[in-house]
Amino acid sequence: MNSVSSNEEKTDIYSKEVLISREEINSRVEQLGREISQDYQGRELHLVGVLNGAFMFLADLVRHLSIPCQICFMQASSYKDQQVSTGEVILMHNLDLSGKNVLVVEDIFDTGLTLKHIREDLNMQKPASLEICALLNKRIPDKVAVDVKYIGFEIEDRFVVGYGLDYAEKYRELPHISCLD
Ligand code: 5GP
Repeated sequence: MNSVSSNEEKTDIYSKEVLISREEINSRVEQLGREISQDYQGRELHLVGVLNGAFMFLADLVRHLSIPCQICFMQASSYKDQQVSTGEVILMHNLDLSGKNVLVVEDIFDTGLTLKHIREDLNMQKPASLEICALLNKRIPDKVAVDVKYIGFEIEDRFVVGYGLDYAEKYRELPHISCLD
């Protein structure tokens, strides 16, 4: 009974509009990996993946890097099983980034509130450098001003899932990005 209802959910999500295909993601992530590798030539890169949404993006990105890197994670939550931000950002980590070249890897730059908090929080550790790479940048008015150096794709203001992004913890496993609305 359970397996039938979970199959029905899958059929439903697969019928939604695919905004960015698996192929488009692969090729853009490869380009980003090349660009980042060039920019960090001769330096050791410390990647900080923002859980949970960036887990798939980070895992693919590191496979396209040709420079030495270390990988760690932090947790950020701002959405609580809903499609609008609560405005509250909770960060959790146990990082020591002092003197390191840090690249934060995030799933989506929406209002910018989360990335602003992350930047401020990690800057307190005095890294040698701190940049941000976001897979998606949502075009919305009144974004918080945050410097995001690497962006995978610009998207319209729609709620997206897949490739790590969830709705109520579902759909993260999709290899592409779909619109839920
Ligand atoms: P911000 O603080 O920039 O408004 O939001 C950042 C976080 O909100 C992202 O890391 C992501 O978890 C969540 N978020 C924003 N827009 C979307 C969306 O369209 N889909 C999903 N699944 N999460 C989103």
